Amino acid sequence: MVEKIKLAQGAGGQMMDKLIKDKILKYFTKTSVSAEIPLSMLDDSAVIDDIVFSTDSHTVQPIIFPGGDLGSLAVAGTVNDISVMGAKPIALSAGFIIEEGLSSETFETIVKSMSKVASDADVPIVTGDTKVVEKGAIQEFMINTSGIGKRTSLLEKNIKEVKQYRSFKQRWLLDSNLEKGDKIILSGNIGEHGIALMSYREGYGFETEIKSDVAPINRLMEKILSVGGVVSAKDPTRGGLANTVNEFSEKSKIGIVLDEEVVPIPKGVRSACDLLGIDPLEIGNEGKVVIGVVKEKANDVLAEIKKHPLGKNAAIIGKATDKIKGVVLKTTVGGKRNLRKPIGDPVPRIC
Ligand code: MG
Repeated sequence: MVEKIKLAQGAGGQMMDKLIKDKILKYFTKTSVSAEIPLSMLDDSAVIDDIVFSTDSHTVQPIIFPGGDLGSLAVAGTVNDISVMGAKPIALSAGFIIEEGLSSETFETIVKSMSKVASDADVPIVTGDTKVVEKGAIQEFMINTSGIGKRTSLLEKNIKEVKQYRSFKQRWLLDSNLEKGDKIILSGNIGEHGIALMSYREGYGFETEIKSDVAPINRLMEKILSVGGVVSAKDPTRGGLANTVNEFSEKSKIGIVLDEEVVPIPKGVRSACDLLGIDPLEIGNEGKVVIGVVKEKANDVLAEIKKHPLGKNAAIIGKATDKIKGVVLKTTVGGKRNLRKPIGDPVPRIC
């Protein structure tokens, strides 16, 4: 029988991991060996000649949703993947694929929204491409954004601060940089983006209280770096917090203990998840960051994040430890469970 690509293989979990490793990396890795941070590291961006480079295609349905739209998502997505490397995003591209029949008004709404988010983030869109395909060839409208970023003195300052407390050889904030004792900080509420979309799509009614958190986090990252002591950062998008901390743990080869009680989950997200039987830790977010920071700087970094409008509900949610393997969640009822990477995504087509 002919093997066919399944939806879950693009959902950001274990199945997508396998698709990338089995069918993509073996062909592309050789061409990227000269990169300082090559494709094979599967981090949020690559780095070559000190240029941070990332790309992201956005296929969200519906294209306008509570709290955002395809345009805001496409800009924030790439800005965030560059920012979490510790770099300053400096320019974006926008590639449009439009289904014939899309209303011109909707198209313009989304382009305007891209423009607004890009100017709020202060990252210009400097190049692009527009294609229109026959009705049915795609659903409505898809946008690819790529972006480049560069090193700044803020990243140097941050790394200098790390070196006050432990040896550190890396030049970027990588998923693989955690060591035992590092604290894990989450910048705010989780689950809002995925639940807002799912609820709006399926008509569950939660959308009246839950809006997508989509937002560029580059300015928040600047604040974080200015305090210093940060070793890793990642935006918990597809696969949610569960996927992010497992990436940290796998790539850093260190255990991570999370305290479920302190993970900020809004009431509406919690009740939607209970109703639908899904885990809020596996739901995608689009305006959050999870960072690893040396323990001596954790409280200072947390205080700085809390001052930022995107970081009011930030919390120290766990730490890296060599006493366990993988990720262990201390549950609210006093138990412990292994927190694994989701297999697929409980909420598809959200980014
Ligand atoms: Mg990312």
